[in-house]
Amino acid sequence: MLGLMQDEPLLIWRFLEHAGRHHGDIEMVSRRVEGDIHRYTYRGALNRSKKVASALDTLGLAQSDRVATLAWNGYRHFELYYGVSGSSRVIHTINPRLKPEQVAWIANDAEDRVFCFDMTFLPLVKAIAPYCRTVRHWVALCETEALPEYSGIPNLLSYEAWIGAEDGRYEWPVFDERLAAGLCYTSGTTGDPKGVLYSHRSTTLHAYAGSLPDSTFLSARDCILPVVPMFHVNAWGVPYSAPMMGAKVVWPGAALDGKSIYELMEAEQVTCAAGVPTVWLGLLNHLSSEGKRFSTLRRTSVGGSTCPPAMIDAFHKLGVEVLHGWGMTEMSPLGTVGALRNKHVGLSWEEQLPIVAKQGRAVFGVDMKIVDPDGEELPWDGKTSGDLLVRGPWIASKYFKREQESLLIDGWFHTGDVATIDADGYLQITDRSKDVIKSGGEWISSIDIENIAMAHPAIAMAACIAVPHPKWDERPLLVAVKKSGANIDREHVLTFFAGKVAKWQIPDDVVFVDVIPLGATGKMQKSVLRERFKDHALPA
Ligand code: ADP
Repeated sequence: MLGLMQDEPLLIWRFLEHAGRHHGDIEMVSRRVEGDIHRYTYRGALNRSKKVASALDTLGLAQSDRVATLAWNGYRHFELYYGVSGSSRVIHTINPRLKPEQVAWIANDAEDRVFCFDMTFLPLVKAIAPYCRTVRHWVALCETEALPEYSGIPNLLSYEAWIGAEDGRYEWPVFDERLAAGLCYTSGTTGDPKGVLYSHRSTTLHAYAGSLPDSTFLSARDCILPVVPMFHVNAWGVPYSAPMMGAKVVWPGAALDGKSIYELMEAEQVTCAAGVPTVWLGLLNHLSSEGKRFSTLRRTSVGGSTCPPAMIDAFHKLGVEVLHGWGMTEMSPLGTVGALRNKHVGLSWEEQLPIVAKQGRAVFGVDMKIVDPDGEELPWDGKTSGDLLVRGPWIASKYFKREQESLLIDGWFHTGDVATIDADGYLQITDRSKDVIKSGGEWISSIDIENIAMAHPAIAMAACIAVPHPKWDERPLLVAVKKSGANIDREHVLTFFAGKVAKWQIPDDVVFVDVIPLGATGKMQKSVLRERFKDHALPA
């Protein structure tokens, strides 16, 4: 016997329709790439998103056709999220930090029909346009007057003229909630990038889960500033969860330096934010050098790579709670968040810090386990580490166009991360399997070493990598960037590790560099460092 409840498919346009009807006067604020501030309300966003949907009809796009975006966080990108997915097409967000040939490769693989881009990316688009075989229409996210007289890009439209031709009267279609809604390619550090294809159903369930009290606690009283880009894993779902909750949103555009973010936070009275650790480094440095504090910011979601405990502590001293989350593109991305349990509430901050610094507990919908190389489940003792496996309704089962290859083994997705889980269910990522350092049959967590190094007052950034060793197979090398004006040497750094890890886990050597290369999603590119230092002579 089936239940007798209304059978409304979970479709993405419902988020914005809800916000337009129930939170219609709530503002959305964007720093535009033009430099000025744009404001309107959810009602305005709904109206213009419907124009996008109609404009795609006018171009003759079919269901599930792909529309690419190469854009910063802003209101036009938000309208595309809804106009494209809401009208049953697929929004394909592309990371502009990838190399031009990768962008073209991805656009061809996705068979994008329409390609929308911020004017800042005009040179990139000019370079790739001749190689994008399936794109029929190029749309520059600007007014008609801002279009260049001659661009060489065929069928170039201005977004404002394109959607301005529509009257905004549009009925959202109703279709199967399992239909594809969004496409995002993995960064492709190993092999070609692979497309993760989100559905309306997975995106909706993920938005609910991401807003829960122990996830981000997003509410109608919040003003959220997502620094995490809309071009990568849907800005962690904020474009869906914010209208769902009726929260005000502030999009930072292309100005991601500490000063610009801080000023926007203060001007718009931002209460919560989201981003990877590297962007928060810039913000925290700005505050400490200017002696400033936040007047309204209360919490920030941090993930994408390990949030060093020193950073969580720095935010805490500024009255901001860090919600340390873990996930991946294949997981939409949310997997776990490090919120405290009831029994931790009475503890001192020094006792709470190591708990919230872990990657946290599984949100409802995600199940996880750690296994040994034979696939046997390992104990949740906080010490035994193993390969991390996950499953759930917003986790990929296959990659786009590789439908014949299942990603699941016995129903579980292999994350490629190595982790421990403690008795309270807190996950701690000890490494990515390819970053772990294998010394004499024992594993050294590069993340543990980096967290300690990052707590050193003179170190701005640190990566720990494996260097080949004749006796031990591999030994750890610390690659560090000094804070400006800091005066430290190798011995000084190595002494700092004494008593913090076992002696054999202390790096054999330290090299100082000016910068650590960051990948397209702001993560340290340890593979580049491994290549650069593969012949590094460790001291005997
Ligand atoms: P995203 O860009 O959303 O982080 P990716 O698919 O590019 O997604 O990368 C996912 C990987 O990033 C994870 O498998 C894990 O290795 C790493 N990662 C993500 N969040 C964390 C975290 N909080 N701590 C440690 N590693 C993390």
